[in-house]
Amino acid sequence: MIREFGLELTENRFNFDRFYFTGEQFIAVEQLRRDQQIHFEDLQSRLNVLAKKSKNMREVLDEILQEKNPLYRVLAVSLAAYEGGDIESLSPLYTQTLYHMLLGGLAAAHQSCEEENHIDFSSIKRGNAQLPEKMAEALGPRVHLGHPLTKVAASSTGGFILMFQGGQKVEADLLVLAIPCPVYEEIVFEENIIALEKLEAIKNVRYGTNAKILVPFSKMPSKNEGFADDLVVSFFNSECNCLNLYYTGQLSYFSEKTIEERYSRERSMMEKGFGEVCPPFTSPVCAKDEAYISYEGPVGHSWPNDPYAKGSYSYIAAGQESLLTALENNEKEVFKTLFAPINKKLYFAGEHTSVLMDVPGTLEAACESGERIARAILSTHFLCDEEI
Ligand SMILES: Cc1cc2nc3c(=O)[nH]c(=O)nc-3n(C[C@H](O)[C@H](O)[C@H](O)COP(=O)(O)OP(=O)(O)OC[C@H]3O[C@@H](n4cnc5c(N)ncnc54)[C@H](O)[C@@H]3O)c2cc1C
Repeated sequence: MIREFGLELTENRFNFDRFYFTGEQFIAVEQLRRDQQIHFEDLQSRLNVLAKKSKNMREVLDEILQEKNPLYRVLAVSLAAYEGGDIESLSPLYTQTLYHMLLGGLAAAHQSCEEENHIDFSSIKRGNAQLPEKMAEALGPRVHLGHPLTKVAASSTGGFILMFQGGQKVEADLLVLAIPCPVYEEIVFEENIIALEKLEAIKNVRYGTNAKILVPFSKMPSKNEGFADDLVVSFFNSECNCLNLYYTGQLSYFSEKTIEERYSRERSMMEKGFGEVCPPFTSPVCAKDEAYISYEGPVGHSWPNDPYAKGSYSYIAAGQESLLTALENNEKEVFKTLFAPINKKLYFAGEHTSVLMDVPGTLEAACESGERIARAILSTHFLCDEEI
């Protein structure tokens, strides 16, 4: 679609090699790993055994390192940043991510490599928001942006009546809910639209507590390596002129009133780590819910406090393994049982519904779900077998 709409891509790369900040000094995470003398030969099988007998990722980590060990701390904050939840809440299924972190990588999708550890990613020149805007333009007046859904009721013809903030009503034959699970709490579903037990289970899918404050740098640091403390990891963009402070846990809940206090907490790490290239303190602001805005100084966003996200990305919480990994076949496609279509009328899409188990909580997972749902709807409602 990027090509189809004539948009241009920029290739980016960021380095995820880090230094752990003890509050006083910086230690390279690579050094911490070397000092630990991890036995790599049986690491995978040892971790598999631990995963089976543990209730959460804290129990797994407790078995391999002491909590006061800086490597334990850096692994705990990296897991919370990458997977979304703290180690107490994360299912032991994330032992696989821990395995790659112990090898020097970040996760199954970003494994350790010989050269500098990095992630390559692309973005759209002049803003990613251009893609959905171009799609909306191409689809014309059928797309209504800025209309939060507030209620779903059954129509007399077997479809749905959708109600939106502001009072607009729309009748639909098919419904694809592509909203994050915590947002279901804000929507009234009339009886029999989604079975009560299923609806409660969807509302209970846990989402990460993550936030970002982006800090512009006018002078370049000598190396583009980031720092981590017990609750925040940081990394640079590829031009090395913007530091991303990535918050986890309770620190990620901030508002216009509290963002300055959150940012101040990291200043000592920044000042000690970057020395004279550290930009002087200026008050941060919360990002506006608008595309293409420029900011002069630090700008942040709290996903747990965003009313249309209520969290960063879904994760499998301790105890929710069966619920969130059970799959079934339906309408010639595979679905997570929790998000299987209802009566060939109501479909669920979004990263949380993806059947790609190696890349949960990602754009790739979101796209996979969208394509699969589109195929299911086409094959069930619009095309005969030869046309698919
Ligand atoms: C801080 C952060 C860092 C991330 N880093 C990466 C990364 O490096 N790589 C990667 O692949 N992924 C990353 N992700 C995850 C990625 O952004 C998500 O997995 C992806 O955007 C999910 O897409 P989605 O369509 O499922 O949900 P969303 O993109 O959340 O889309 C859901 C839409 O529903 C809308 N909505 C909510 N409520 C209503 C309502 N009541 N009525 C109508 N619409 C509503 C929302 O406004 C939103 O537009 C990151 C996410 C965050 C928060």
